[in-house]
Amino acid sequence: MRLSILIIAISTLFYSCDTQKKTKKVKEPNSFAIVIHGGAGGGITRDNISEKRQKVYEQKLEEALNAGYTILEKGGNSQDAIQAAITIMEDSPLFNAGKGSVYNSEGNQEMDAAIMNGKTLNSGAIAGVNYIKNPILAARIVMDSSKHVMLSGKGAVILAEKYGIELVDSTYFYDEKRINQLKRVQGKEKNQIDHTALNKEFDLQDHKYGTVGAVAIDMEGNITAGTSTGGMTNKKYGRIGDVPVIGAGTYANNTTCGISATGTGEYFIRTVASHEVSSLIQYGNQTPPEALHHVIFNQIEPLGGEGGMILIDKYGDVYWDFNSSGMFRALKKSDGETKIEMFKKNRS
Ligand code: ASP
Repeated sequence: MRLSILIIAISTLFYSCDTQKKTKKVKEPNSFAIVIHGGAGGGITRDNISEKRQKVYEQKLEEALNAGYTILEKGGNSQDAIQAAITIMEDSPLFNAGKGSVYNSEGNQEMDAAIMNGKTLNSGAIAGVNYIKNPILAARIVMDSSKHVMLSGKGAVILAEKYGIELVDSTYFYDEKRINQLKRVQGKEKNQIDHTALNKEFDLQDHKYGTVGAVAIDMEGNITAGTSTGGMTNKKYGRIGDVPVIGAGTYANNTTCGISATGTGEYFIRTVASHEVSSLIQYGNQTPPEALHHVIFNQIEPLGGEGGMILIDKYGDVYWDFNSSGMFRALKKSDGETKIEMFKKNRS
């Protein structure tokens, strides 16, 4: 009799522990969060960026973060939130997206952008475009108003114009410092992410950083990820990076997480980096920090790639990781947590 009571007690204990484990994590009702990045790279170190310059970056990151956060706070959706954050960074010459885009080997700017809705898995991307002031808005049009996922070049510009997206003359994107960056590597058969360590070679006061990206989860629990970039300095004419390749530089799925990446795009395409992280969480029983670490350090790095990723999971928890010296990054959550960082520190 006593033995059977003991057995029942022990199994009840195990059962409740197990149930607790399975139900431990839930998204707090009405909670929301946003995380953004402004690019990763070897040049992002305390030695390279003066304190004054750090403040300038911090202020712009904060402005972008708050623009997205305010939308979420008012009950808005995660698509509008990431769009608001990204357009602010695209309009700033501080970043390698929209106005601050880097030049290709021919001396032209060709931009890529993507957005993905984690609820519907609907996505939109544009590749190799000029004239579109805010490439992320055109990516959204592809997602919302076309049957396609990716449009390139002229076709993307025509669609954007049809839906009233602002077009500008290519001189709008002109940036002398970006031209100087190109001149330093042109003819050297060398592509570089905007922030790669060229410390000795470059005038670092002039050196500017960053592809931009954002991931948000709204009160409804819907996740959206978006990324926008000018690509890599001295890239070949027509080169398309990881950013508009869904699953490589940009991915969102409400059942796992949303991700935006930055770094040497070819390696993120070859490892299908963002989707790989999502799959490791979904099928590999890994936590988001484990999955991020695995893909960056065990898959991308051994191939020679450099960069990082930001992530929000279905519970509204925010993570990031990178193998470069730094990554411009910031997060804000409805529980009050806020961070703005740029130098090495692997996890949030
Ligand atoms: N991933 C981008 C590309 O390869 C570059 C970057 O993130 O800076 O186009």
